[in-house]
Amino acid sequence: AQTSAVSAALTPMMAQYFEIKAVNPGYLLFYRMGDFYELFFEDAEIASAALGIVLTKRGKHLGEDIQMCGVPIHAANDYLNKLIKLGHRVAICEQVEDPAEAKKRGSKSVVKRDVVRLVTPGTLTEDDHLDARSANYLAALAMVRHGETDFALAWADISTGETFVADLPAERLADELARIAPAELLLTDVTRQALVDLHLFAPAWATIASTIAPEAADSEVALQVLRRAFPAAIFDPTALSRAGRSAMGALVGYVDQSQKGRTAPLRAPMLQASDAVMAIDAATRASLEILQTQRGMARGSLRQSIDLTVTAPGARLLANRLAAPLRQAGEINARLDAVERLVADSLLRMRLRSDLKAAPDLARALSRLALERGGPRDLAAIGKAVAAALELAEDLSSQPSLPPALTRLAKILGAAPRSLASELSIALDDDLPLFSRDGGFVRAAYDARLDEERALGSETRAVVAALQARLMDETDVRSLKIKHNGVLGYFVEVPASHGQKLLEAPHRDVFIHRQTLANAMRFTTTELAELEGRIAKAHEAALEIELGIFSRLRADVLAQTGELQALADALAELDVAAALAEVSATRFYCRPQVDDSLAFAIVGGRHPVVEQMVRAEGQSFVANDADLSGSDEIGGGKLWLVTGPNMGGKSTFLRQNALIAILAQMGCFVPAESAHIGVVDRLFSRVGASDDIAHGRSTFMVEMVETAAILNRATRRSLVVLDEIGRGTATFDGLSIAWASVEALHETTGCRALFATHFHELTSLAKTLTRVANVTMKVREWEGDVVFLHEVGPGAADRSYGIQVARLAGLPDPVIARARQVLDILEQRSVGTASSKDKASVLDDLPLFAHQPAPAPKSKDPIHEVLDAVRPDDMTPKQAIETLYELKKLR
Ligand code: ADP
Repeated sequence: AQTSAVSAALTPMMAQYFEIKAVNPGYLLFYRMGDFYELFFEDAEIASAALGIVLTKRGKHLGEDIQMCGVPIHAANDYLNKLIKLGHRVAICEQVEDPAEAKKRGSKSVVKRDVVRLVTPGTLTEDDHLDARSANYLAALAMVRHGETDFALAWADISTGETFVADLPAERLADELARIAPAELLLTDVTRQALVDLHLFAPAWATIASTIAPEAADSEVALQVLRRAFPAAIFDPTALSRAGRSAMGALVGYVDQSQKGRTAPLRAPMLQASDAVMAIDAATRASLEILQTQRGMARGSLRQSIDLTVTAPGARLLANRLAAPLRQAGEINARLDAVERLVADSLLRMRLRSDLKAAPDLARALSRLALERGGPRDLAAIGKAVAAALELAEDLSSQPSLPPALTRLAKILGAAPRSLASELSIALDDDLPLFSRDGGFVRAAYDARLDEERALGSETRAVVAALQARLMDETDVRSLKIKHNGVLGYFVEVPASHGQKLLEAPHRDVFIHRQTLANAMRFTTTELAELEGRIAKAHEAALEIELGIFSRLRADVLAQTGELQALADALAELDVAAALAEVSATRFYCRPQVDDSLAFAIVGGRHPVVEQMVRAEGQSFVANDADLSGSDEIGGGKLWLVTGPNMGGKSTFLRQNALIAILAQMGCFVPAESAHIGVVDRLFSRVGASDDIAHGRSTFMVEMVETAAILNRATRRSLVVLDEIGRGTATFDGLSIAWASVEALHETTGCRALFATHFHELTSLAKTLTRVANVTMKVREWEGDVVFLHEVGPGAADRSYGIQVARLAGLPDPVIARARQVLDILEQRSVGTASSKDKASVLDDLPLFAHQPAPAPKSKDPIHEVLDAVRPDDMTPKQAIETLYELKKLR
C-alpha cells in the first residue's frame, strides 16, 4: 500500500528516475534533461559539493524539496572527469527515443530514458579522461579456495584492448599490483575479507576497489562469459586455472556491463608466467623511483629521464617495460640487438623517429570506434597510422643486416592495410569535426549523391539570396535582409522604422509578422518557409549520406581490428627501440653483456638520473665501478659494505647499480663503460628513509618488515641493495641486526649485494666473510671543510664527517662550534677505551651546553670561541643582546 501511495505522489518523470536509479546502485546518475545532465537528491548534494556548482530545488517529493544540480551537455566531459578523479562512479542516462514518439503516446508520457554507459576509473576511453602516455588498467582479483587458496589477477586497458591474466601466489599479489598500478580493482566482498584476514589487503587498494557480486566471479559463469567474448580459435578459457577464469570472467563481465551492449575490443588475454619478469616489490619500486619519484612526481624518475619516445603508445610501452624487466637472457639480447643496430646507424634512427612522429594513437582510436564513441578524427587517425607504418616499413626494407627483432617489425609494418589507408584519406576531409553527427567531414567528389545534396543545399542558398534582392525591390526597403537563427529559422528582417510599412497593404498579404525587437521587426513569407524546408531537407539528406559513409568506413576499420592491433604494437615497439637507441647513443651508454652467470661487473657506472641533473648544473658526474660477481663454486655473489660520510654519494652509488640492472634487463644500454650482468631474478632495494607513519608503523618497524621480506625471499640470483639497516633503533640493537643481516645474506642467500652503513664496526666482517669487501666514498679535508669526491675506493671510512656536513647544511655556527668541542672531548677521553659504555659515561660527565661552558679543550678560550662564531650581519637585535648576555656569563 505504501508503494502505491508513494508512486501515486510521483510525477511520471520521477517514477522513471527512481526505476533507473534502483538498478544502478552506487553510481551518481547523470539524468538527461534537454541540454543538461541533472542530478537529484543525494547525488545532487555530492556532485554540487564535489564540482563546486549550485545546488537548487526542483519540485517536491513526499512533501520535501528535491535537491537538484545540473551540468550542461557541452561541458559534461570536464565535470565527469573531475568526479571520476575524485573516486566517484557515474551512470549516464540518455533519452533513448525521439521526444515526438513520447508525445504520440499521450501528453503525460515521458521520453524513454536508459543508462547507456557506466563511467568508472577503470573503463575510460576518451582522450579527455586519459593520460596519453600512461596505460589505464582495470584489474580483477579472484580467489578460489581448494584446500590452499589460489589467487589470480586479470587486467586490461579497454582504451587499447591489451588484456592479461596471471595466477599468483598470495605473497606476490602486492608486488604485481604495484607493478600494474590499476585505476580500478574489482573483487568480491568474500575475496576482500579473505585478504584482510591474511593481512594481504594493502591500504592503498581501498581507494581503487570496486565490489562485484559473487556470481560475477563464479568460475563456471566465467566460462560462458569468456566463450561469448572470445572466438574459440583465439582463446580457450579452459586453459586457465579456475582462479584465472574467475578473474577474467569478472573483468569481461564488468566491461560489458559498463559499456551497455557495446563490445570493447579486448584482445585475447596474454598469460603472464610469474618467472618471466624480474620481481620488484612495491618498496623497491618506490625506492628506485622507476616510474615516479617518492613524492609522486614524474620529474626525477628513471622513466622521465630515459623516455625519448615520440608517440604516446611508445611511451606507454616504455613504461610497461621499465616496470617489468625481463629474466630470459635470450629475449633481453634480442631487444638489445635491435637497439644496438639503431645506435650504430644514426641516419636510420633519425628517419624512423621522424616518420614515427606522424603515427597517431592507433589503439585508442580503434577502441573508441569499436565502442561507438569514435568520430571522424579517429577514422583519420587510423588512416594516418597505417600510412606511417608503410613509410616505416619502407625505411627499414632497404637496410642490410637487420636483427630478427627489427625484421619482424618491418614485416608487420609492411603488411599494413594500404587500401584502407587510401580509402580513408580519399574519403575524409582535412579539417574534421569531433563528432560524426556534426557532418561536413566527407571530402567533395567522394560520393556523387552527397555532392548532389550539398549542391542542392547551396543552390537553395543562392535562391534565398535572389529572394532577398526581389523582396528588397518590391518593398523598396534597402536594408531588408534574410537572416537565420536557431529559434525562427529563416526570416526577413527590417529596421523598426520600416516595420510598419510591411504590416500594411499591399505588403501585408506577403509578409507574416513573427517578432518585434527594439530596433527591428521580423517576418516570414510563404516562399521563404518553403525554401527553408528544402534547405533543411537537403542538409538532412546530406548528413544521412555522411553518416552512412561513416559507418561503412568504421565497419571497414573494425573488420581489420586484429591486424590493426598488431600494427599498433609494432609501431610502439619500434618507437621504444628507436628511443632507447637515441638515449644510448646520445648519453654514451654501453651495451651490457647479459647472460645466465652470477656476474655483476660494472666499469665506470653512472646514475642515469643524477648524471643528467649534475650535468645540467655544469658539473661532471664521477663514474664508479662495482664488482659483485660471484659463482656457484665460491658460494654465491659478493657483498660490498659501503661506508662514507653523509652526502658522500652512497645512495647514488647503490641506486645506480640497481637501475643499471633494470635498464639492462628491459633491453636498454646502460650508463657505464662496460657491464656484465648475470640475469637478476629479484631486485630488492631499500635506500633512503621511508616513513609509513600514516599506516601506524614506525620507521624501524617498516625497516624490519622489509628486511624480513628480503631475507626470506632473496635467492642466489637476486640483487640486494640496502642502505643503513638498523638505524632506527638504539646503537647496539641496530648494529646487531645489521651484523646478522649481512651474515645471513652472505652465508644463506649468497646474493649479490651492496650494503651501505654507518656502523663502522661492520667493516670487520670482511676479515671473516670471504665474499665481503669494504669500499668507501672518498673525501678530502681542506681547511677544516670536507670535499666529497664521490669516488668509490677500497677500504673503510675512518670518520663520518658529520659535523662538516652539518655545517654545510647550515646548522648555526655556535652549535657547530659546540659540537666540535663535544666531539673532541669524546675522542680524547675514549682513546684506549673503545667500549661504548665508557663513551656513555664520558657523555654523562659533559657539562650542559649554554648553562655552563665546557672547559676549553684547545688553546682558545670560550669567549673567543663564541666571538669567532658570531656573525653580526646575520643577527637580529634580540640575538645580539642574548649573545652579549652569554659572553658576560662566560667571563
Ligand atoms: P649519501 O647517500 O652518501 O648521503 P648521496 O648519494 O645522496 O649521498 O649524494 C649526495 C649528492 O652528491 C647527490 O645529490 C649528488 O648531487 C652528488 N653526487 C653523488 N654521487 C655523485 C657522483 N658520482 N658524481 C657527482 N655527484 C654525485
